[in-house]
Amino acid sequence: AAKRSAAGRHIRFDSTMRERARERARVEQELRTALVKDELVVHYQPIVYADDGALKSMEALVRWEHPVRGRVSPGVFVPVAEDCGLIVDIGRHVLRTACRQLAAWRAAGVVGEDVGVTVNVSARQLEQSGLAADVAAALAESGLDATPAVLGLELTESMLMNSPNSALDRLHELRALGVRLLLDDFGTGASSLARLRRLPVDTLKIDRAFITGLGRADSDDDAFVAAITSLAAALRLETVAEGVETDQQLARLRELGATSIQGFLFSQALPADEFARDWGAARR
Ligand code: C2E
Ligand code: MG
Ligand code: MG
Ligand code: MG
Repeated sequence: AAKRSAAGRHIRFDSTMRERARERARVEQELRTALVKDELVVHYQPIVYADDGALKSMEALVRWEHPVRGRVSPGVFVPVAEDCGLIVDIGRHVLRTACRQLAAWRAAGVVGEDVGVTVNVSARQLEQSGLAADVAAALAESGLDATPAVLGLELTESMLMNSPNSALDRLHELRALGVRLLLDDFGTGASSLARLRRLPVDTLKIDRAFITGLGRADSDDDAFVAAITSLAAALRLETVAEGVETDQQLARLRELGATSIQGFLFSQALPADEFARDWGAARR
């Protein structure tokens, strides 16, 4: 009987794997046409200064408006796009859209000239030699090449820490364009301080995992965030706290010296028109 149930389990495991593979293949197939059909849209989440809550920049976050399944989260389709390489085309689309949107908002006076936009970049995009050319093209096409520091690229710790020196060369290529580089999800990867010191980044984005327990007696988060903000100060880096949801977290982040704040306490990511309405200069 034990044998039979082991075999049964094996079969069940097998068919789940097959289902998952089939589901993945379906997502991949549909994703290929999603770009052409303009189903991939970009939402914007405000990032505000910790001290006065003024708008500093916004993060461009991709969403898939699927005709049948509704809005699909990037947590579902970005990993698939990374596996099959489609992330390169998707990433280019997000980059161009975000640059064009920021330029339009600046021209319309929705945001000031000092407000920036950041775009997420996957390892696959960094590995590919065309990234700097894509970034340069997006800047030139939108006219942001006159003020390239308003564009930031979010890279994760893990893709830089384990990467060969060619990745470091790529970062210097990007920096030469005048754009900013941010380390996303900071604290979740295995960082080497020696490596961090050599990375040409401007900003550490403190992962939400360290924000949740801020100000709570039963949590280490205060100590970790204090360590990260003092490290950032020593390296002359800015910090963005991700996933800030409560006033208590905000108060602690101010005390700990975080530069800026991103999270549902201020706003979730919004479609462009809602962002302009809620965060445009006219709102105050
Ligand atoms: P991320 O870059 O770390 O983005 C932050 C995520 O945290 C976003 O999820 C955002 O909506 C969410 N978030 C922000 N504030 C809060 C908060 O207060 N509470 C909670 N619970 N969540 C908050 P989203 O938009 O679902 O994106 C998930 C991930 O997908 C991103 O993580 C990023 O790694 C990836 N992603 C999104 N857009 C792109 C893209 O255009 N290209 C690439 N390569 N990856 C993307
Ligand atoms: Mg990000
Ligand atoms: Mg992040
Ligand atoms: Mg994150």
